[in-house]
Amino acid sequence: IKRLGGRYELETVIGGGGMAVVYKALDTLLNRTVAVKMLRAQYAGDEEFVNRFRQEAQSAARLSHPNIVSLYDVGMSEGEYYIVMEYVNGPTLKDVIRERAPLPVPEALDITQQICDALAHAHDHRIIHRDVKPHNILLTQSGQVKVTDFGIARAVTGNTITLQHDTSVLGSVHYFSPEQARGGAASVKSDIYSVGVVLYEMLTKQLPFSGDSPVSVALKHLRDRFVDPRDINPDIPQSVENIILRCLVKRPEARYPDMRAVKADLQTALDNPDVPKFV
Ligand code: ATP
Ligand code: MG
Ligand code: MG
Repeated sequence: IKRLGGRYELETVIGGGGMAVVYKALDTLLNRTVAVKMLRAQYAGDEEFVNRFRQEAQSAARLSHPNIVSLYDVGMSEGEYYIVMEYVNGPTLKDVIRERAPLPVPEALDITQQICDALAHAHDHRIIHRDVKPHNILLTQSGQVKVTDFGIARAVTGNTITLQHDTSVLGSVHYFSPEQARGGAASVKSDIYSVGVVLYEMLTKQLPFSGDSPVSVALKHLRDRFVDPRDINPDIPQSVENIILRCLVKRPEARYPDMRAVKADLQTALDNPDVPKFV
């Protein structure tokens, strides 16, 4: 059995993306199950990446919220960086969408509200997620949302070489805001756009934009109009479609001002679904 830092016994692989492999592991010191994310060795030699990783791990460590996966520890073992975090025993939102979308509207709104709570907390601490997507949203057995992959996303999106060569990282372009798709800086508004994409997908089982290549998808985010969600799923109330439309506005300035405003409208939509269309 591989033991990291004399402490964490790796058990099974539970996931893996472009930049990391995630293990279920035992923290032998505290005798509890944890998740260990090992950054792929190919990134360990990149000094800029490692600096960013360290800085962002420090940011993530400042976050403490019931809807954010807690960071417990970071370390290095045999030249490989790892982070130790809360283990979430449940599916990702990607799994849920694949198996059950379109989700019932109240369920989709509840999940989205919890995502908003998590991101509002991060934004209060000046941390932009930058990679909000169903892959990075975990669900506990009781339906509690746990957003993960904080800050690490920043390291990835800041690294153009990674973006060009790594297909699983390229996948996130479906959730990129127009400003990110253009290669510009991400902001609170970028996370809001991504939340809009996730809500769209939960309720329609489709993405607003897809295509043969990341570049074609990015261009669509910049220029194209998506199919209105109610034209795909007529069960979506107009109030909920309006929220999606206001998240997916191309100009960041015209989007919702912050996550709390999105959450407030989600609550209003739950209480009062019949409103005129947002244009
Ligand atoms: P990607 O770049 O594709 O988003 P990644 O390399 O950044 O992936 P993560 O998103 O952090 O890696 O984790 C990959 C997968 O591992 C998740 O989609 C999830 O299935 C699983 N996973 C990650 N963190 C945890 C956790 N704390 N508890 C349980 N499972 C987890
Ligand atoms: Mg991820
Ligand atoms: Mg990631």
